[in-house]
Amino acid sequence: VPESPNSLQTFAKDKLSDQMVELFEACQQQTSDLARKEMCRTRLQQDIQRVYEVARLYLTGSSMNGLGCRSSDADLCLVLKGNKRHDPIHVLSVLQRLFRSLSYVERIQLIRAKVPILRFREKGSDLEFDLNVNNTVGIRNTFLLRSYAYADLRIRPMILVVKKWARHNQINDASKGTLSSYTLVLMVLHYLQTLNEPVLPSLQRDYPECFNPLMDIDAVPDGPKHIPPYISRNQSSLGELLLGFLKYYATYFRWDEQVISVREARALPKSNSHEWSKYICVEEPFERNNVARAVHEKIKFDIIKAQFVESWRILQQRKDLNSILPVRAIS
Ligand code: ATP
Ligand code: MG
Repeated sequence: VPESPNSLQTFAKDKLSDQMVELFEACQQQTSDLARKEMCRTRLQQDIQRVYEVARLYLTGSSMNGLGCRSSDADLCLVLKGNKRHDPIHVLSVLQRLFRSLSYVERIQLIRAKVPILRFREKGSDLEFDLNVNNTVGIRNTFLLRSYAYADLRIRPMILVVKKWARHNQINDASKGTLSSYTLVLMVLHYLQTLNEPVLPSLQRDYPECFNPLMDIDAVPDGPKHIPPYISRNQSSLGELLLGFLKYYATYFRWDEQVISVREARALPKSNSHEWSKYICVEEPFERNNVARAVHEKIKFDIIKAQFVESWRILQQRKDLNSILPVRAIS
C-alpha cells in the first residue's frame, strides 16, 4: 500500500515514534467522549438559563482543543453578557444552589482560586467538570491551541505524550506548585516554533484577523476555520521531536533570562516587571501575563528541571518510551 504523505506513519519509522503513535491512538479523546460532554453542556445551559436568561455555556480546554484524552475533564466557561459586572463567586454560589436540585449532577464544590470555579461530576460517571464565569480568554486560547493542534499531524501525539509523561512524573499539577497542562502545551509549541527548521509558525502573526483579541466571543469558534495546514521542511520523527523537547529544556533554555512567547514564536528577554519575576515564565498568548505563576517554590522548580534532565538522559540511552513512561502508569 503506498503511503499517504498525510499519514502519521511518515513520522513513525522508529520504535520510539511507533510507541508514541500507539499511545496517542489508545488515549486520545473519542468522538463519543465529546458527544457525552456536549450533551451535558446543552442540558446545563438550559437549566442555567432558568436563572440567567442570556447565559451561554462554552466547552473549552482539552475537550475542544484537540489535545484531550479519554480521561480529560471538561472545562466550561459561562458567558454572561450585558453591562452588569458579575461577581464570579456570587454567580457560582447561585449555580451551586441550582445544581444541588439537578438530578444528573453530584459532588459540587466551589473553588475560590484566582479564577474561581465550580467543580462537579455528572452523576454515576467519572466525568468531571470545571466551570468558570466570564473567563473568556479561555475560549480564545482554546481555539488558538486547536489551530496549532491541527496545523501539523505530529502536534497532537507529541503533546499527548508530554502531558502523560509530566503527569506520571508528578510535575503536572498547578494546585501543587508544578505545571498546568496549559503551560506544558505552550512549552511544547514554543519548542516546535523555535527549531532551526520550525515545525510550527506563529499563527497569531500569520493570521491576525483569525485571532483578533477583540473579536466577539460568539465568533471565536469559527474564526480559524480556514487556516490551511502548515507546510514544514522539518521532517523529524515523533521520537526525535520528543528527545529534542526534553533536551531543549534540559540544556538549552535559559529559565532565568527568557520568557516563552508562543505569540511571537520566540523567547523574549525577561524585563524587570513583576510578571516576569517567577521561576518559569510563559506568556499567555492573548493577555500576555504569566501562565506558569503557580511554580513559586524553588524546590518545585528544581524538581521540574531535574525531571527534564533525567528523562532526557534515560531516553537518549534507551530510545524506549517505557523507560520514561511505563505502560502500566498510563490511565
Ligand atoms: P487536561 O487535559 O489536563 O485537562 P487542558 O488542556 O484542559 O488539560 P488545563 O490546564 O486544564 O488544560 O486548562 C484548561 C483550559 O483553561 C486551557 O485550555 C485554557 O483555555 C484555560 N487556561 C488554563 N490556564 C490558563 C491561564 N493561566 N490563562 C488563561 N487561560 C488558561
Ligand atoms: Mg482540562
